[in-house]
Amino acid sequence: MSLQRLAALDTQNPEWRPWIAMVRVLGPSIDDPVWVRPVSTRLNAHTDRPLLDGAQLHVPQRAASTLVRTLLDLAPRAERVAPSARERWIETRLLPLLQKSIAADHEVDENHDGNEGDEGEEMDRHSGVTPGALLTVVNAVALPVLTAAAAQCAPQLPTHWPHCGCPVCGAPPALTELIGLDRSRRLRCARCGTGWATSTLRCAFCGQTDHEQLGALVAETALDGPRVETCARCRGYLKTVAVLSQGSHLDVLIADLESVTLDLAAHAAGFVRPGGTGRALACTVAWSPSGVAR
Ligand SMILES: [Zn+2]
Ligand SMILES: [Zn+2]
Repeated sequence: MSLQRLAALDTQNPEWRPWIAMVRVLGPSIDDPVWVRPVSTRLNAHTDRPLLDGAQLHVPQRAASTLVRTLLDLAPRAERVAPSARERWIETRLLPLLQKSIAADHEVDENHDGNEGDEGEEMDRHSGVTPGALLTVVNAVALPVLTAAAAQCAPQLPTHWPHCGCPVCGAPPALTELIGLDRSRRLRCARCGTGWATSTLRCAFCGQTDHEQLGALVAETALDGPRVETCARCRGYLKTVAVLSQGSHLDVLIADLESVTLDLAAHAAGFVRPGGTGRALACTVAWSPSGVAR
């Protein structure tokens, strides 16, 4: 079913092919048990911060390197680089960039690694792809790690989460699913796949509850029609899609692509899709200890 939806997207939007190709690669990678149980520390116990705040995550170096090679091959090329230079880049730069991605440390540009200065820039050039594509690729490699972390966090997921952002990784929700006949609402995170219950009359980004500030940009033409919910206070918007049951992480990525017309309508009306997590997660990322064969 997911492959059919991707094929339809590919036909309808040939300009998206590089990203659709990446999602095809991510599908099986997200479900690969090689990433399982990456969190090696206790989960955050503060009730108002995401569960991964302060956590240490271990990532299998071989699997991450293989995935980044595949994704770099799909990304738009900036320049030709020698295979040895690219391998050196993967060996030395992938981990710090993965750390920034997982921590949602978007304040630091992907080409400027703070303390590493010119050397960092020089080595990033050796990925061979454009800076924008590099950011996309590194964020994509973070997805299976975050999905596995979300599975590990699931038993401790709070039943009531009134705060803004994903209760596991802190990212703003990508969309709202209206599930089944009772149309129960669940916000979904596109980074880690987590779903969490939400109130209808509350902005998912700034917490606004004044119903006069909350609206629907695209009027519903049917009970199950997709629409955009907006907040006049923070100018954020959230797409809403109807589903029969809560979808997988891959389903969220595909639904996000399928509903791009809603993004365009929201942008045209002056609303923005919030990014970042407010502040970076204080988590650290390391390669899995040697001896763990994955
Ligand atoms: Zn998340
Ligand atoms: Zn708001």
